[in-house]
Amino acid sequence: MTGGSSSIRFENVEVDSRRSDVEVVGRFVTCVSPPGSDRRRKVEAVVDGGGGALLPGLHDHHLHLMALAAQITSVDCGPTAVNSAEELQAVLRRSVGRQSDGWVRGIGYHESVAGHLDRALLDRMVPDAPVRIQHRGGAMWVLNSAALRLLEHGIVEGLEQTGAERDLERDSNGRSTGRLFRQDALLARLLPARPPDLGAVGRRLRDLGITGVTDATPDLSDGAAALLAEAASDGRLPIKVTVLGSTHPPAPLSVGPAKIMLRDHDLPNFDQFCGAVSAHRRARRPVAVHCVTRESLILTLAVLAEVGTEPGDRIEHGAVIPGDLVPTIRDLQLRVVTQPDFLRTRGDDYLRDVDRSDLECLYPFRSLLSAGIPTVASSDAPFGELDPWRVIASAVGRRSLRGAELQPPERVSASTALDGYLSPAGDPGVGTRRIAVGAEGDLTLLHVPLSVALTEPTSEAVRMTVVDGRS
Ligand SMILES: [Zn+2]
Repeated sequence: MTGGSSSIRFENVEVDSRRSDVEVVGRFVTCVSPPGSDRRRKVEAVVDGGGGALLPGLHDHHLHLMALAAQITSVDCGPTAVNSAEELQAVLRRSVGRQSDGWVRGIGYHESVAGHLDRALLDRMVPDAPVRIQHRGGAMWVLNSAALRLLEHGIVEGLEQTGAERDLERDSNGRSTGRLFRQDALLARLLPARPPDLGAVGRRLRDLGITGVTDATPDLSDGAAALLAEAASDGRLPIKVTVLGSTHPPAPLSVGPAKIMLRDHDLPNFDQFCGAVSAHRRARRPVAVHCVTRESLILTLAVLAEVGTEPGDRIEHGAVIPGDLVPTIRDLQLRVVTQPDFLRTRGDDYLRDVDRSDLECLYPFRSLLSAGIPTVASSDAPFGELDPWRVIASAVGRRSLRGAELQPPERVSASTALDGYLSPAGDPGVGTRRIAVGAEGDLTLLHVPLSVALTEPTSEAVRMTVVDGRS
């Protein structure tokens, strides 16, 4: 990493509720002492903390870096950003001509914004520039006519080659409706390459106090891993990165459990799934299994019980966890990496669309912790909100955008939710990293004491972020 100083002293900071001075030399904390008691050493930078909390840097245990980079050059078309067809049209029109490739790329769309979205509706909003909008679920893109003029030929050809013609929806006259399902890879091949702006991602992470992330993208391509490693080395992405979707990622990326993606409506059969887990067991690698439905969780638990578990096995999301499965999760010694902020951003839709029996066990948190299951909040950005302080507030409030409460008994304190972000990259929910001599110099300085920051969690409390002793 480049820039910043290699020795720094934080004076008058709050560490574990006590006023302290903290020195970081090179990549490690070298001194923690009462304020003013030990300031003889020459350091390259002195920061007066003014009583603000100094924390171990936050680690987001589940997000997707490349998609986040794409999001930064995209238009947010979701219900947290726009609330009507008029607003959607306004943000799309404002974005025309902003990107060098001429495209408008929208993400996060949901029917609650402007109803059933198709080519005709998009054409009325943006008739002349190519627009593509991804549905929030991730499995559908909607293209306008200008986009189809550029891509339809290639899409049809690509679909024919794989016998997936039906993934491009057609109306009764055989004309494409602009709705394309499950064809991300094909679209990526046909579209002009837009280099991911990982520098913008790095700046955003640092602004939020995040010094490490776990990228949960399944089957991360070698190319993507190489781009991430390069950005992590040259200072554009100045954070520690663990990846779940690659077996031998290039340095400085670290490898975590192996991500296993389950298609919710097309679950693998028991033996196939056992085989996939066993393959990782031979390398003693834990697994991180995507579970957002009751069925996928039941299947996952049965498979892990059959194959045997490995320390570090994780359930990703845990969107629906019925109480009667909690003892099994505990007995298998799994961790749960959850996303309470979906209760805010999607809660109103859940209340309308999700079965009552599932609503009762949506994104549980407190009951898992009470059962002794290590459970941490994370973002799943860009599909969820990246801001950890926003996520922490949602773990506390469990309220939808319209203010509806979702299973209030599952609320946790802000401090508990923060602890998840302070737990080690390789051990989510198991202990918290501490600021002590010998600890890594990955730190987040707040403007205020921790008790103040946790009263109304907001990223505005973040003053400075340091990774490997460098700001
Ligand atoms: Zn994810």
